[in-house]
Amino acid sequence: MNLDTTLDKIYGIGPTIYKKLQKIGLNTISDAIFYYPFRYEDFSHLKQINELVNEESATIKGKIILLNNKRSPRKKMNITEMLLGDDSGQIQIIWFNQPYIKNILQIGDEIFVSGVVKKSLLGLSLINPNYEKTNRDTSHTARIIPIYPSTEHLSQKQLRYIIKQSLSCINELHERLPSQIIKKENLIEIKEAIKQIHFPDNYKKLDLAKKRLSFDEIFLLSCLSKFIKKQNIELSAPQINFKEKQIKDLVKKIPFKLTEDQRKATWQILKDISHKIPMNRLLEGDVGSGKTIVSFICAYNVILNKYQAILMSPTQILTKQHFENAVKFFKDYDINILLFTNSDRLLFNGKKQLAQKLTKKEINKFVKKSDFIIGTHSLIQQNVEFKNIGLIIIDEQHRFGVKQRQELTKKSDISPHFLSMTATPIPRSLALTIYGDLDISKILQKPANRKKIITKFVYSRNRTKAYEFIYNQIQNGRQVFVVCPLINESDKLGVKSVMSEYEKLSNDIFPNLKIEYLHGKMKETEKQKILKSFSDNETKILVSTSVIEVGIDFPNVTIMIIEGADRFGLASLHQFRGRVGRGEHQSFCFLFSESNSEKSRKRLEILTKTDNGFELAEYDLKFRGSGDLYGIKQSGFMNGVKIADLSDLELIKKCNIWAQYIFEKGLEKFPQIKKEIELLSSDIHLE
Ligand code: ADP
Ligand code: MG
Repeated sequence: MNLDTTLDKIYGIGPTIYKKLQKIGLNTISDAIFYYPFRYEDFSHLKQINELVNEESATIKGKIILLNNKRSPRKKMNITEMLLGDDSGQIQIIWFNQPYIKNILQIGDEIFVSGVVKKSLLGLSLINPNYEKTNRDTSHTARIIPIYPSTEHLSQKQLRYIIKQSLSCINELHERLPSQIIKKENLIEIKEAIKQIHFPDNYKKLDLAKKRLSFDEIFLLSCLSKFIKKQNIELSAPQINFKEKQIKDLVKKIPFKLTEDQRKATWQILKDISHKIPMNRLLEGDVGSGKTIVSFICAYNVILNKYQAILMSPTQILTKQHFENAVKFFKDYDINILLFTNSDRLLFNGKKQLAQKLTKKEINKFVKKSDFIIGTHSLIQQNVEFKNIGLIIIDEQHRFGVKQRQELTKKSDISPHFLSMTATPIPRSLALTIYGDLDISKILQKPANRKKIITKFVYSRNRTKAYEFIYNQIQNGRQVFVVCPLINESDKLGVKSVMSEYEKLSNDIFPNLKIEYLHGKMKETEKQKILKSFSDNETKILVSTSVIEVGIDFPNVTIMIIEGADRFGLASLHQFRGRVGRGEHQSFCFLFSESNSEKSRKRLEILTKTDNGFELAEYDLKFRGSGDLYGIKQSGFMNGVKIADLSDLELIKKCNIWAQYIFEKGLEKFPQIKKEIELLSSDIHLE
């Protein structure tokens, strides 16, 4: 076995488990050793049975006195009962639905058992604990044990076994940091760090491992950022001249007055794209701050220069909405606008529904004669040929954009300008790290006369009251969004959670109202039908996954219900909230949470007090750590960050300085780092 060996070569790992491993991104030995635990349970101190305390986690060593399987009569569950004894006493141990335990263990065996102690009618017991025979190696119990991110189908035990086996290849791992960095920063070796992160000997060693691996993550990110910047400067972009008169005429026609920030952002972009260096700018503006129009104005200037502008957005719904807005916006101008959501449904200038089966050639013909192309990522996937792209705009996608630019312009020797737009406020410290030298424009002001949305945290005991209020609103003609969280990993598209909420609402709560649902697994035509009925105010309540999060605009919807609000970051919740409050009526956002814990309530109550997205993102960083920051994690750029704390400014500064050092010396001199960076940059995803 070596680092590239696939995991199915490990003894005992068959195709079924291998498939599950692949689902969580584990293909090779190397993947497994870099799959870090997300927390630990401390079973490093053995306890006597008579020392056990309710609700505490503990590890005990004892002999099996009794062992039985039985079925619970009511729930038809399989129950394995054990009585375990040591010198100090005896305790009952129970496992549910693991009957095979009886075949693994026998009366008289000496075992370790680790778990949380629970008090029941029969005294203290351990429910579903980890166990291990004492004569075997003890990766599962008598130590600080790692808990890995998993799906419900892979047990911790299986994961631990696989990682333990994979670690036998650890000696092949090359040290990637130059020795002077390791020395100056007092870091431990990579091999030791990896070993300790999985199976720490003690907390001190675990801390050293975390320190080392965090350093690697941020350092490589800093290097990547420098690498990309360097590549960018070497490229050459079309110079887009500022057509002052025409732009002014266009702006005059807009039915409202642009905010000062919108003007400033527009001006910054127009200035950037007049240069030969490709623009790489992020336009940050809170939900509803009016980013779209800024991008349209800039696109117009590009088109006036006889270049194509492209606008890509993440969902078909949002893309279609942009297209309709663009057609309206440019109705008095001679501009060809193309909607491209997938290759057999092109819409040219909003007039003609093109034939179902276009050949590649026909598609390219349409693309080439379009000035403004609005599409989803299928624009990239379909390998479309463009005429000459001047500007690429990516909406609501917090992507770095380098890869997209490469993909879209593979065949051309000029590199277009790049504008990403996001409502995801990125805390300054984070922006500096992640986006390194990226330029940022901000729209802080909101258009005048926006009403404040009333946000309430609803205790479970007040649920009924909230439903009454909602019913009244609906009677007054308003409509409701219900957002459901993903309940578990395997329900990736949210089908399960949406269906169960839908059934609850339509059967039990509002049986006489028309309620519909929307989730990722539905066909596009079906979705459109449902949205149509919602937009016609026939459907009163729309239950959905977070797909409605971005962009879409239904001014008559005044209530946003968020179920399981504690599962979302504040910035995400703020996005959902931004779906209401778009019309003339007072709007409301109700946060329902499964957890009534003080901490989670406190966090959610921040939302009731502020509607400043930038502030909320800072809170997210403080409360939940950077890992939860909306959007950032999905951006391929952050794939390499698993344990580092992105709010650790000290570390970020240090790494930036070292990255600078590497690039001054020349990346070529550090082949190991170069390899890693190239790997990371090829990993920046599109979708
Ligand atoms: P976001 O920044 O969230 O993408 P949009 O661009 O979708 O926001 O704008 C939200 C709404 O506000 C749109 O209906 C848009 O026409 C309107 N809008 C944009 N700028 C202004 C403005 N300066 N004054 C009034 N309304 C505006
Ligand atoms: Mg938008």
